[in-house]
Amino acid sequence: AAVPGLPSLVAAPLICGGCGERVSDRFVLLAAGQAWHGSCLRCSQCQCELQMHSSLYYRDGSIYCQLDYSLRAETVGL
Ligand SMILES: [Zn+2]
Ligand SMILES: [Zn+2]
Repeated sequence: AAVPGLPSLVAAPLICGGCGERVSDRFVLLAAGQAWHGSCLRCSQCQCELQMHSSLYYRDGSIYCQLDYSLRAETVGL
């Protein structure tokens, strides 16, 4: 099932789900059960930076912005 969620901020050293590097920033983004650099949390389709968005979607290991998720949903009839 889709898991819409808002990126949230925590203060802890974690491993980025995008590049695999440790996130050394004071604050990291948390989304889809992973920590992310702000610049690594991108839509798998259009590569937009999701830290700029109010919501994101995670499905089958890929992250989508709201627009691409809705387009994909229409395409595959979800
Ligand atoms: Zn990263
Ligand atoms: Zn997108």
